Amino acid sequence: MLDCRRAHDVLSDSIDGVLPWWKRILLRVHLSICPGCARTDQSLRSCHGVVGSLRDMPPIIEDEDPPG
Ligand SMILES: [Zn+2]
Repeated sequence: MLDCRRAHDVLSDSIDGVLPWWKRILLRVHLSICPGCARTDQSLRSCHGVVGSLRDMPPIIEDEDPPG
């Protein structure tokens, strides 16, 4: 069983998708019984989503259209 500290260590790996399945299960079990870590998981995931979507955005190119 994971404690909160280990769960936090595992969280970022799980978001990166580099976690072995058995660790994912341990983490899930912990998140289901620990509202604090579940909240951390949520906020980490939303942070990650924002960063990911920023990275996916095309660069802003200021090209000058000729007038008219
Ligand atoms: Zn916890």
